[in-house]
Amino acid sequence: MNAKNLSERLKTVASFVEEKSIVADIGSDHAYLPCYLVHSGIITQAIAGEVVKGPFESALKQVKSEGLEEHIDVRFGDGLEVIQPTDGVQTVTIAGMGGPLIASILEAGKDKLHTVEKLILQPNIHAKAIREWAINNDWKIVDETILEEHGKIYEILVLKRGQMTLTDKELLIGPILIHHKSIVFTKKWVNEIAEWRRILNQFNKINITSEVKQKKEELEHKIALVEEALKA
Ligand code: SAM
Repeated sequence: MNAKNLSERLKTVASFVEEKSIVADIGSDHAYLPCYLVHSGIITQAIAGEVVKGPFESALKQVKSEGLEEHIDVRFGDGLEVIQPTDGVQTVTIAGMGGPLIASILEAGKDKLHTVEKLILQPNIHAKAIREWAINNDWKIVDETILEEHGKIYEILVLKRGQMTLTDKELLIGPILIHHKSIVFTKKWVNEIAEWRRILNQFNKINITSEVKQKKEELEHKIALVEEALKA
């Protein structure tokens, strides 16, 4: 993968970016996404944020080698701390991390979101943590999609400011995804159920402490929610 030949996963993230918006891509690694967005003419200005030296240097190198230094500012820093109020960032993208890490980055950097109108988030796992964060912080899900690439399944959540209430089922599965049961969607949840059942089987072989009992009940609840959604 490179900025001109982007993965389907990051191309799908890019498809939600509005034309001419100012974007901050957090956890940018090689800065492929901002480079692609600028090369495609979708945007002209972006910040690529990275907290790890190696990926930060890769991003600097990529932006330089593509001659995009005027358009993409690569900044070293933790999460949203790379964003300054004068940047006028309208869209934040965070892709390729776990849902809880994405939610913790948003939580820690809430005060950097004043100018931001749209969050495009691609958790590799546990999207639920992002939906919970959104509810608690007055962001609502306006779009969701799911795709498979190289045998891995990814969800993308698009948030705008606003309030929403979600049922347990919608929190887990996604309020929009739940209405579009694609082949990939069904595959993801059939796999999840199989994994949860495998864990339940392991639990049946060990001493039931109160912690195990609670975990068992949580898994059984999740299985029931997903089975209900798949049957509906
Ligand atoms: N966003 C790219 C993508 O989707 O292909 C790169 C994903 S890579 C798996 C995750 C990147 O996020 C790593 O380069 C990691 O260093 C960076 N990262 C993790 N936590 C971060 C944080 N708190 N602030 C900035 N970058 C972070």
